[in-house]
Amino acid sequence: AKRDEENLCHFFDESMETRLMRTKLIEHALHEALAQNQFFLVYQPQFSAQTGALVGCEALIRWIHPEEGFIPPDEFISVAEHVGLISAIGEWVIDESIRQLVRWREMPVLKNIRIAINLSSVQLEDKTLLDRLQRKLKQAGVAPDLLELELTERVVMTDAAENVSRFQAIRAHGFDLAVDDFGTGYSSLAYLQKFPLSVLKVDKQFVDPIPDDEGACAIANAIVSLAHSLDMKVVAEGVETGEQVHWLYRAGYDLLQGYYLGRPMKAEDFQQWALTDYP
Ligand code: C2E
Ligand code: CA
Ligand code: CA
Ligand code: CA
Repeated sequence: AKRDEENLCHFFDESMETRLMRTKLIEHALHEALAQNQFFLVYQPQFSAQTGALVGCEALIRWIHPEEGFIPPDEFISVAEHVGLISAIGEWVIDESIRQLVRWREMPVLKNIRIAINLSSVQLEDKTLLDRLQRKLKQAGVAPDLLELELTERVVMTDAAENVSRFQAIRAHGFDLAVDDFGTGYSSLAYLQKFPLSVLKVDKQFVDPIPDDEGACAIANAIVSLAHSLDMKVVAEGVETGEQVHWLYRAGYDLLQGYYLGRPMKAEDFQQWALTDYP
């Protein structure tokens, strides 16, 4: 048993060390990535569940490192938050999304499409964010309701009292505000009512077991009625099957997003797809 423990310790030390080295590598490489424009955005379509119309998309950041290859956002965003680089990266995401809205405005099929961007807690806490967003959109001639801001449920519920006024300011500026990964944190229902939120994005973990699992379906139904009674729209994330689409449509979901309906695509592919594959 002693021997096993030693092996176990050794194993953990080693994996911790590997992880630390990986974090160091990412931290170092992130500086270069910003300077050398290694990031790009992909856009995943969002459809009206009721009409099937393409109404928006979510911008997701991508990073292909020249030597390491693809590094997923789940891995580097948290590093960027820890080393203070998330503001610069987040600002790049904002700028690029606005540039994209301007380009799409010239294309009839995409001229009214909305882009949702993911905001980190660091950006939410930045008091200058809203004025900057407003100024940038004005300069670009883009209406604020074409840009939706997503905050994870965890971020929404941390600092909840403070967030009520932050969110009021965001909405007063004309931006829609979505709660991402809904159901994975611990939403206080009392707060949900106080927050001026526009959209609940139901996490994939609740969508996956639909329609076979009765419990999951009951939860998914409860979330729609909760959202609608609070005057919020509800999005199902991670939709992967036709049965799910059918079920979610019948349950009254507003919007659908997932691989079954469309993968995240580079801007050019998104345009091509919108013009050809999408009726
Ligand atoms: P998220 O905001 O919850 O984004 C949804 C994730 O689910 C994306 O992963 C998307 O590619 C994936 N996804 C969408 N539909 C399906 C599906 O049908 N099946 C499966 N298995 N997955 C699906 P991705 O792009 O790897 O992003 C992971 C997370 O990284 C995001 O989760 C978000 O929290 C974060 N992230 C991505 N881009 C940004 C960004 O620009 N800024 C910030 N702060 N975070 C970002
Ligand atoms: Ca998101
Ligand atoms: Ca999500
Ligand atoms: Ca997520």
